[in-house]
Amino acid sequence: MRDHEVDGSPSPARNAGEERNRPIRPLLADSFGKWLEEIRDGRAWSGCAFLLFGIDGETLARSGDVPEEAEAALQHCALRAVRSGAAVEADRTPDGTFLAAYPVAEPDNRSICAALGFVMPSDLGTDACRLLTESGALHFRGKLASAAEHRLLHRIMLFQREADKIWKRKDLLYDSVRRLHDQIDVPSLLKEIIRIIETLFPGAELELHLSQDHAAVDRRIKPLVFKQGVDEICARSFLESRPITEYGEDGSVEVAVPFSGKQAVYGVLDLKLKAGEWNEAELPHFVMLAQEAGSAFEHAKLYEQSNQLIAELQLINDMAKRLNRSLRPQEIFEFVTTEFLNVFKAEFCCVLQFDRDERRFVVVSSNIPELVNERFPSDYGFCGVVMRTREPLIISDYRETGNVPSKLMEITGARSLIASPIFVDGEVGGVILVAHRSPNFFSYDNYKLLQVISSHVGLAVANATLHAAVRRMVITDHLTGLHARHYLNEQIQLRQRQDPAGSLILVDIDYFKRVNDTYGHQIGDRILIQVSHVIKSCIRETDIAARWGGEELAVYLPLVRIDQALRVAERIRQRVEAETDPDVTVSCGVSEWTRDDEKISPETLFYRADMALYAAKNHGRNRVIAG
Ligand code: GH3
Ligand code: MG
Ligand code: MG
Repeated sequence: MRDHEVDGSPSPARNAGEERNRPIRPLLADSFGKWLEEIRDGRAWSGCAFLLFGIDGETLARSGDVPEEAEAALQHCALRAVRSGAAVEADRTPDGTFLAAYPVAEPDNRSICAALGFVMPSDLGTDACRLLTESGALHFRGKLASAAEHRLLHRIMLFQREADKIWKRKDLLYDSVRRLHDQIDVPSLLKEIIRIIETLFPGAELELHLSQDHAAVDRRIKPLVFKQGVDEICARSFLESRPITEYGEDGSVEVAVPFSGKQAVYGVLDLKLKAGEWNEAELPHFVMLAQEAGSAFEHAKLYEQSNQLIAELQLINDMAKRLNRSLRPQEIFEFVTTEFLNVFKAEFCCVLQFDRDERRFVVVSSNIPELVNERFPSDYGFCGVVMRTREPLIISDYRETGNVPSKLMEITGARSLIASPIFVDGEVGGVILVAHRSPNFFSYDNYKLLQVISSHVGLAVANATLHAAVRRMVITDHLTGLHARHYLNEQIQLRQRQDPAGSLILVDIDYFKRVNDTYGHQIGDRILIQVSHVIKSCIRETDIAARWGGEELAVYLPLVRIDQALRVAERIRQRVEAETDPDVTVSCGVSEWTRDDEKISPETLFYRADMALYAAKNHGRNRVIAG
């Protein structure tokens, strides 16, 4: 046996184990088959057999019959050829068969991966055998090289296809992200997120779990629930703020990825895929998409909130302006009822004022007629709670609250409620209740808005109350409690524009200077007050008594003709004489006007009454004279 060195022979295998792992065998078998097909046509090979050995001498493929001993000898040659990297011939067998093994190197890296064995018939000369087997081995190596080339090309093509797919996916992702950031309102953004993920992961079951209130734009958008004791993948992904992948026993996959922006995690995107539908390499894409969607959501949310804030500020500003325009508390309460029903899309509204003297709440305005003017103890119902806590409150479901009685909620069947105190000068001066029959109807924003507007209501009520007090002061004479002269003048002017007639009585205390001189000014004042009381008790609610100046008083009697006015004056005169202490008398001058008068004015009316009064003084005083 001798080795047959081959020029440029490949290097022997360095590591058989490493070689064994190479996916060269299918290529070897394939090349062997093709090689056989090609050489079978040629006569030169008739009667020959071929064996392909692996690097451990195992037979990988064969063609033709080979006696057992010949195969064993050839295997031996193959092993040596693998080790030496050179062709190895065996001695001719007893029947003269020529055996030779040629090492075969991998075309990619030239390491030995097999040996090709030839079994040549005895009638061929050794030189012919050598020539033939050498050319056969070369031929085979050529086949293997072209198969390897082919495989390489195929691999490059696959790789290109894969790269193409990745680029397409990247384009799709880029496009998706751009579209996400184009959305500025939350509902259309949420819809877009669902649409994009559906496109990227067709066939997957998608859910978006949100931790906050959300617009119900898609059935796949759900609130994020934390069930105690249940190891729920979404809850975990949210709490730990990281993507989680779980494989089912049937090969299905669930992937939960946090839906987060720059400031917070808003929820979790959850994908459920059947076996074989998920590729691990997609995870970074999915995470990136969830992050982009999260930050687009954050922007849209901020935009929505700022718009809402602007709208609320405008509303507050408008309401404050309109509230401050009103100087009558009742007008304010009615405005509040109408506007609050509007602003909060509520069904019921009640405004209660706290009566400090009676220590009770009074319904001063409501769209529920049977509640208007109802009175409640200061500790009753939700008003009582607000009174005690001095805080606004929100009830999402009255049926579940239970322990606070409320006539409003009972008779309307309302379940949602927001209530706020009306602070007037730092005290709870009233309460506003806004209700709806649906549970969970009012949002936290509604509750905050009610609180803010209520503070403006309080200011407006305080302002109106103050204004009323100032006005009272201005039109009232502080000594007698009668009206001031200018008020009487205004009222007569007003009445003369709308009434057909009216009368005026001027009352002047007789010898009042003497009273002052005798008893002093203080007693004089007391008498002035006594006379004023007499006058007030002699007239009706609609009549207007005023201090005309000094110790002269006046009464205007709307729609009253002079005969009746004279009777009133006479009653005043008599009662003053009888009831004052120290006793004084009064003189009265009475005048009237009717629509038929030539000249109608307060001055004319006063002038005539004054003339009559002058006459009364001249006729001995303590008398009534018509002008
Ligand atoms: P007669 O009307 O009967 O002609 O006499 P008289 O003394 O009442 O008339 P006169 O107009 O001269 O005096 C009015 C007096 O009324 C002068 C003033 O001292 C007094 N008087 C005016 N206003 C007040 C007041 O507010 N308090 C007191 N105590 N006296 C007043
Ligand atoms: Mg007088
Ligand atoms: Mg006088």
